[in-house]
Amino acid sequence: MSSQNTLPSYLNPLELGPWATYLEQVERVLPHLGRLSVWADTLRRPKRCLIVDVPIHMDDGTVRHFEGYRVQHNVSRGPGKGGVRYHPGVTLSEVMALAGWMTVKNAALNLPYGGAKGGIRVDPKQLSLSELERMTRRYTSEIGIIIGPDRDIPAPDVNTNERVMAWMMDTYSMNVGSTSPGVVTGKPLSLGGSLGRRDATGRGCFVVAREAMLRLGMEMKGARVALQGFGNVGNAAARVLHEQGARIVAIQDVAGTIYKPSGIDPHALGKFLAAGTGTLLDFPGIECISNDKFWEVECEILLPAALENQITAENAGRIRARLIVEGANGPTTPQAEDILLARGAIILPDVLANAGGVTVSYFEWVQNASSFFWTEADINARLDRALSEAFRAIWDLAQERRLPLRTAAFVIACTRVLEARELRGLYP
Ligand code: GLU
Repeated sequence: MSSQNTLPSYLNPLELGPWATYLEQVERVLPHLGRLSVWADTLRRPKRCLIVDVPIHMDDGTVRHFEGYRVQHNVSRGPGKGGVRYHPGVTLSEVMALAGWMTVKNAALNLPYGGAKGGIRVDPKQLSLSELERMTRRYTSEIGIIIGPDRDIPAPDVNTNERVMAWMMDTYSMNVGSTSPGVVTGKPLSLGGSLGRRDATGRGCFVVAREAMLRLGMEMKGARVALQGFGNVGNAAARVLHEQGARIVAIQDVAGTIYKPSGIDPHALGKFLAAGTGTLLDFPGIECISNDKFWEVECEILLPAALENQITAENAGRIRARLIVEGANGPTTPQAEDILLARGAIILPDVLANAGGVTVSYFEWVQNASSFFWTEADINARLDRALSEAFRAIWDLAQERRLPLRTAAFVIACTRVLEARELRGLYP
């Protein structure tokens, strides 16, 4: 199973970025997988990578081409599943890493899915609404050859939302000739979306933080939180944490960093930003601090909920939080993780901490398949149970084998993936 002389370019450890982080995380789990480690290349090699050209008519009559991707990292346990990201920094290797993390995340939660991810290299803020729609529809058509309710099910990620999912669902449905709600999740409610989906990722961050704090003897009431990112994940996580008595003392987003030791009200901040009259820095009653100082803020919980590679060897030594809750995918580099673990910090890894989103995506897909819809209370209770149980299994294994939580999560998830791989056998 060795691939030494024929390394595909994406296995090159010199290529930096999230894919290198993912590969390093895989290396760290292999010694704990027993005989299943012979299948390690299954984790190192994405099953299928599709690069698509997305040409569209711009409003000014010109034609522009965007580069789109859909990566199915693994489908051993079920269809591919994972979001679609619109960002100018999207690259194939980033999408590969995000797809790999979806494989691990879905298996850690025991959802009957493999892992996939998609993206377009674009700054969506530069597009008009109709350009965004045309780009989404053409991209969906191009990846239509590999997606489907039983093949691969996209969902929202950075800069995509319910409206984008509605266009994707419609485009796929028009192409196959019948309405197919189960082809994407994170849809608007009126198109078969699920109650509770929008806040699910942020709510999940709260659930796993609560479980960790119970075991660490930490109080939620009055706990200070430093939050990076106030998008879908950060906003919902802040609201739920605030409602449960935590204090959001610092928030960083693209505009800068704000600080308020007595606590920022995330509901009020959300309303302020939605009004469009100013950025985070214009919110009344706060102090602006430098982006660099964010990492030194006195807090019990650090919640990175933006992009990858934010907690690095450069800033990890200054972080004060005891608990790091990875709302984003891949926010911590392996070097930074070593620094944090060495001083006793607890890192709740992305594949657990932000798994609330895909868990409720799974509920949405099940509701679509059965055309029977659940109440919000039922969905939130099932989400809480799924995450608490996954947390307990990972925590207990970490204690028993003295492993970091990320490695414990990877042990549980990769065992499930590789057992499925082995049982299915090689075709032909
Ligand atoms: N984009 C989210 C994630 O990274 C959700 C994926 C999904 O719901 O399929 O987990």
